[in-house]
Amino acid sequence: MLEPEVEARPWDEQLALDDAAYRAQLEYLFDSSRFYRDKLTAAGFADAEAAGGIAEIAQLPLTDKQELRETCTPENPLGAHLCAGSQIVRIYSTSGTTGTPSYVPLTVSDLENWIVGSARSYAASGVRAGQRVVTTYNAGPFVAGAALASFERIGLCHIPVGTGNTERLLRAVQLLGAQAVVLTPSYAEYLLEWAGQRVIDLVDSQVERVLVAGEPGGGEPAFRGKLEEGWGAKVTEAMGVGDIGVSLWGECEQQVGMHLGARGFVHVELIDPETGDAVELADGATGELVLTHLRHQAAPLLRFRTRDHVEVRTSPCPCGRTAPRIRCVGRTDDMLIVRGVNVFPSAVREVVGAFAPAVSGHIVVRPQAPGVKQDPPLPVAVELARGASADDGLAEAIRERLRETLVVQTRVELVPWGTLRRSDYKSKLVER
Ligand SMILES: [Zn+2]
Repeated sequence: MLEPEVEARPWDEQLALDDAAYRAQLEYLFDSSRFYRDKLTAAGFADAEAAGGIAEIAQLPLTDKQELRETCTPENPLGAHLCAGSQIVRIYSTSGTTGTPSYVPLTVSDLENWIVGSARSYAASGVRAGQRVVTTYNAGPFVAGAALASFERIGLCHIPVGTGNTERLLRAVQLLGAQAVVLTPSYAEYLLEWAGQRVIDLVDSQVERVLVAGEPGGGEPAFRGKLEEGWGAKVTEAMGVGDIGVSLWGECEQQVGMHLGARGFVHVELIDPETGDAVELADGATGELVLTHLRHQAAPLLRFRTRDHVEVRTSPCPCGRTAPRIRCVGRTDDMLIVRGVNVFPSAVREVVGAFAPAVSGHIVVRPQAPGVKQDPPLPVAVELARGASADDGLAEAIRERLRETLVVQTRVELVPWGTLRRSDYKSKLVER
């Protein structure tokens, strides 16, 4: 552990510390955030004391991204939740998976907290000071750039390569003897194919850890297995939420979900995405992740809906870290409802992935109707493995397994290897 005194602290002690930080954060919001002062007052909370402590947080209103966006004006492009205008030292953009990018301002202290949390998350993977890590995040406008500082904080020798030039990336990995690489799961997979076509065996590299982040998928057993076999390395996931913090979560070597590395900086809740009702943060619970800043200055968020649908683990982890763990099931934005059943395209991919080596693991869901609600059967294109030919038995078996596992009727179309688009960043699992 990077900070054992923090990371192994009993969780109830953490919550007591968080409660004090949360109450101070509420005071700060009432003093400095026009957005939250108005929002909380309108909801019947006249001041921080009326809003209570962390145990009462579920009585406060949720914050939606769209709501924040609507307060952005040419005079105040950062939004009405901005608190610390003159102390801002950096402004990131979110990559805007749901539309236009929005801005994320940070003070010196915010940036430091991001780096500390991110360093804990990545260190959980088992990378150690003195090792070399090749990263593919671009240190450009997007929040992922802030994660780069966390690698130095761990004491790693950081070799930033970026995306866009696979040949240069692999040369750096091989020549400089990197023990770890950091990339999206889509790119980690793409590299396997790219190397395979050039008769390069990535198992021969010195890479012993592949750290994936940026999209769900790294924790899907079949997909993880494929990456681990191809790279000859251990694969662990990390995850951030643009508006809240970079790499908030990181998986340890047990590979049983991502621990909250940003403990002490962020409070975690679950809600039912349909009703907004709180869901208890218990072992095995699922729901939409809702996050609250505890010590943020520039533009803190309260009960922010992340649109990430997660499964929670609170059982003790053999690594000794006491923070709860999550696995991201998918984005609620990607979710479809097929005859009353919630279907995540990433869950479809997970089921289909188990049919390797007959399939490549790439899928695309092609909803027929606009919007979320779909009539069955849901069309799913499944890419065959290299050299494999279409066979009705396989399509039928996949259809049947999807029906059994996800309770959804699909129409499975097998497509030849190489048909579905690859990405060196994030994969699109839904095409309309
Ligand atoms: Zn652990």
